[in-house]
Amino acid sequence: MEIQIHPIGKSRIDEVDFNNLAFGRSFADHMLIAEYANGAWQSMTIQPYGPLSYQPAMMSIHYGQSIFEGMKGYRSAKGDVLVFRPEENFKRFNKSAVRMCMPEIPEEIFLGGLKKLLEIDNAWVPNKEGCSLYIRPFMFATDEYVGVSPSTTYKFIIFNCPVGSYYSKPLKVRVETEYIRAAKGGVGFAKNAGNYGGSLFATQKAMQAGYDQIIWTDAATHQYVEEAGTMNLMFMVGGSLVTAPTGDTILDGVTRKSVIQIAKDWGIDVQERQLSVKELVSGILDGSVTEAFGAGTAAVIAPIQTIGFEGKDYQLPDKKDSDFSSKVFTEINQIRLGEIEDSRGWVWKV
Ligand SMILES: *Cc1c(COP(=O)(O)O)cnc(C)c1O
Repeated sequence: MEIQIHPIGKSRIDEVDFNNLAFGRSFADHMLIAEYANGAWQSMTIQPYGPLSYQPAMMSIHYGQSIFEGMKGYRSAKGDVLVFRPEENFKRFNKSAVRMCMPEIPEEIFLGGLKKLLEIDNAWVPNKEGCSLYIRPFMFATDEYVGVSPSTTYKFIIFNCPVGSYYSKPLKVRVETEYIRAAKGGVGFAKNAGNYGGSLFATQKAMQAGYDQIIWTDAATHQYVEEAGTMNLMFMVGGSLVTAPTGDTILDGVTRKSVIQIAKDWGIDVQERQLSVKELVSGILDGSVTEAFGAGTAAVIAPIQTIGFEGKDYQLPDKKDSDFSSKVFTEINQIRLGEIEDSRGWVWKV
């Protein structure tokens, strides 16, 4: 499929302060747009990032057929642009599409289009420590129709944001026992927009109570730990890495998958199993739970300092350089930046 290219007249790159990047507020010059109609992907265009015009009856706004992905590109010491495991995001995007009755996207558009876009906006990939280019592919229904059914037309877009590092200080999180994120048979495993809209209210309540994030628990019993925000949760329990098994309610994170693989390669016992809040709290108290952290593309590894449950705060030990989470963070960072050998084939060079 041919890509039509309409380059920007004058780059906006000089308007951006690369020493002061907020997450998701600056946008690179160009975006990729592909259109789906008459049962097939029709065209690919790269054009300046900017407003698009749609009818008020556009279906995705009303009925939520809207999915996204998130990944990061880095500048290596040699000056190359490296993206961390985008084939995994491509596969997951199509799983989300199938669940939401949306058309799957060919690799030629998702990865081929991305490659071209990153070649054109190469200068937007930051070369400062901790900074990267956040890549946002997404797809939404575009039929003009007020009826609940799958749309027949869609747009797929990729835009990119130069970003600084995400979380800096260890997090204070609260176990949520009233609201839910995902249930068995639902769409929790898909990166569809509605999951995030639905999570805001409970998260806002926790923030008003002084927490950074919530720990979601299972919808049926609220007894088992699931995820936190847009991160998978991981714990070191008696020297083993413990994380919830993937399924209907857990987003199958690329960071989670990578941390598990590295842990196994390092000879650490990995347990993909349910962890009850009871086991977590008693483990913090008796010292067997030594680390808790979130794993996701935005933060990579976000250490957790405090866990609130039923009105009490439980403190985890202070973060140390010898912690598993510190070591795995360094390892992933060095792989992503091309600083150490990529023996697992995770890095995609543009
Ligand atoms: C995106 C996301 C994650 C993390 O996935 P990564 O592929 O590691 O970025 C975890 N949980 C939820 C709910 C998410 O949306």
